Amino acid sequence: MSDPLERLAEHAHESRVIVAGGGVSGLVAALECAKVGMQVTVLEASGVFGGVVRSAEVGGLTLDVGAESYATRGGAVRELLDELGLADEIVAPNRAGAWVAGVPGVGAAPLPKGGILGIPDNPWAPDVRRVIGWAGAWRAYVDRVRPPLTIGHERSLGALVRSRMGARVLDRLVAPVTSGVYSARPDDIDVDLAAPGLNAALTRMGSLGGAVAELRAARSTGTPSDAPASDVPPTVAAPRAAAPGGAVEGIAGGMWRLVEALVARLRDLGVELRTDVAVEELTPAGSGWSVRTSADESPLSADAVIVALPERQARALLRPVVPALDTAEPAAPVVEVVTLVVHAPALDAAPRGTGVLTVPGSHVAKALTHSTAKWEWVRDATEPGIHVIRLSFGAQGEEPATAALDDDAAASLALSEAAALLGVPLDRSALRASHRVRYVQSQPGAAMGRAAQTAAARGAVRAVRGLGATGAWLSGTGLAQVIPDARAEADRVRSATLWRRD
Ligand SMILES: Cc1cc2nc3c(=O)[nH]c(=O)nc-3n(C[C@H](O)[C@H](O)[C@H](O)COP(=O)(O)OP(=O)(O)OC[C@H]3O[C@@H](n4cnc5c(N)ncnc54)[C@H](O)[C@@H]3O)c2cc1C
Repeated sequence: MSDPLERLAEHAHESRVIVAGGGVSGLVAALECAKVGMQVTVLEASGVFGGVVRSAEVGGLTLDVGAESYATRGGAVRELLDELGLADEIVAPNRAGAWVAGVPGVGAAPLPKGGILGIPDNPWAPDVRRVIGWAGAWRAYVDRVRPPLTIGHERSLGALVRSRMGARVLDRLVAPVTSGVYSARPDDIDVDLAAPGLNAALTRMGSLGGAVAELRAARSTGTPSDAPASDVPPTVAAPRAAAPGGAVEGIAGGMWRLVEALVARLRDLGVELRTDVAVEELTPAGSGWSVRTSADESPLSADAVIVALPERQARALLRPVVPALDTAEPAAPVVEVVTLVVHAPALDAAPRGTGVLTVPGSHVAKALTHSTAKWEWVRDATEPGIHVIRLSFGAQGEEPATAALDDDAAASLALSEAAALLGVPLDRSALRASHRVRYVQSQPGAAMGRAAQTAAARGAVRAVRGLGATGAWLSGTGLAQVIPDARAEADRVRSATLWRRD
């Protein structure tokens, strides 16, 4: 009788896995399966791999037009970059702070450096007072003097902040952060998921400000648990005393290089990589699957299938074969990102730090990243006086203001928003090039009720043999969530497939 490990290795080579979706989650899942020698095929509906991690040529520069950084939390992204030989290319963003714009009576002001999700530890700190004013600081101070007995366990971030610190803290500090980070209103965010431990610290400390101070001291960084990080200045949740740029990192040349490296590694491992192939239907066949695609006359067969698609497409594919999957169709925020390359020497001084978040309702743009100020590699790639600016439009329940516009009109709107947010004149003659892209995001993992919904979906998928599902809709948005989840799910499917054959 042969050695069990040898038998497993043989089974691996005989096992065929199809990964539906060639975004980062699909590519990482494929890597995990290919590493042990399984025969892997990745089917990607669009013409390129990477999904939301993608680049475009704008004004002669190759720039990220989707994800442009990752949260360092958990170390999973760094570990992957290391494995792919990109460790030396990891870069930190500029440590300059970011700003918040659209503050009534104030205009734009630096975003306070302390706090968690925009909730200040000390309402009297000058940078906090500048944004919320004396009236706001006094109201927020009520949090410190209210009897501890009034503290309950509040799940909604909006309700918690409103009751403890008042409307100014909520509207001017917290809402810009949740809108920029999660494309969601504070009322829709679950505190226990976005800021784990905050409610418990509140009970211990007797005030929300005290709880924020305690948590900040306990954490080295305070990045929200599933913050996608892009277009969100790194200071948003960093401790006052810590390096503000510590919570996110990027890759010199752009995050799209992660995709390039993943694809190259998969090719080396013999993975079949196909673009312009949409997975249309899964049907159980024997102990495996029959997979109908948009490009093959006959269905493909596989021992296991890993579905790594955006939520709507994933649910449509899974529903017929996962009986216990609920029929939920959660609303998905649509976001448009407009990248501008401008000639504007006035921006050399980075007048608003690395970027700007907006008070909801004050501007049509939700967030702005001044990429030339944020990333040294972008600055090095540009001529003097040339700047790269990214603006994002749209949020939960709010169509992007650019949605109905053609590319040219969208660029003009982005240019005027950039001028307003950065406080410098930018007329049409400043514009060298622009690029616009639309994304349908999944609901943030920290949205109220979302954790139970995704746990149920996972449980339903796991009950079906030879089937796996991963991606931002299940793991939470952001590469720091997506990558470890894809690894874990591929490991589960891989083990189940190999042991089943034994
Ligand atoms: C504007 C924006 C900026 C972001 N910035 C950051 C950031 O800076 N840092 C960060 O960590 N995170 C960021 N995120 C979040 C992060 O990019 C995503 O969470 C992550 O990339 C999602 O990966 P995924 O593989 O789950 O999904 P996707 O990237 O959406 O990949 C899914 C793939 O499936 C393909 N597909 C769809 N249907 C089919 C089908 N039927 N058959 C085959 N293929 C199909 C799609 O074409 C796509 O390529 C950002 C998100 C957005 C929208």
